[in-house]
Amino acid sequence: LPWRQTRSAYRVWVSEVMLQQTTVKAVLPYYEAFLRRFPTVQALAEEPEEEVLAAWSGLGYYHRARNLHRGAQHVAERHAGRFPRTLEAALSVPGVGLYTASAVLSIAHGAPLPVVDGNVRRVLARLLALRGAEYRKDGPYYNRAEELLDRERPGDWNQALMELGATVCTPRSPRCGECPVRSRCRGWQQGCAADLPRMPRRPGRVRRD
Ligand code: SF4
Repeated sequence: LPWRQTRSAYRVWVSEVMLQQTTVKAVLPYYEAFLRRFPTVQALAEEPEEEVLAAWSGLGYYHRARNLHRGAQHVAERHAGRFPRTLEAALSVPGVGLYTASAVLSIAHGAPLPVVDGNVRRVLARLLALRGAEYRKDGPYYNRAEELLDRERPGDWNQALMELGATVCTPRSPRCGECPVRSRCRGWQQGCAADLPRMPRRPGRVRRD
């Protein structure tokens, strides 16, 4: 994937925003075209919003494009066009939350920050057989992810976990027979992998006549 071949913070940032709620297949043609049209933070920041939305047209969830544009203007004005290198400064960029900040900083700058998305949560839950009620929320997953993080290569580690969840340890029918970490997987050993992670309880349905 093109965003796995780069250490450019801007390129990683664009890929992380495009991949939110969108499949890899849908993002691929947009990613390269968008970066050709706006090759740098500065180039994106200087364009009017209509141009950015036009380049995003068809990808959906347009608030992402607006936020990315506002974020680029912030980075251009306050950080001379360079994505910040600290978590605190990255979190002050409009539209950048903990997930995006950690992904960009770990992949582009090797910052030792764990990334927890749906794929990582599922892999961790199965690998460590996390079944307690506390694992219905995100917080404990960050703690587990931080304990396991490879501090020498945090970007590769985060991407490997995400990729494992997206391609092998899939939500239904995990392909344990092909899994490179099967020998260490407690969920597989205990035969409960497919039932994990435990999902948050949904509020009961209220019937009205
Ligand atoms: Fe997921 Fe199966 Fe691999 Fe465990 S062995 S991490 S459940 S694919």
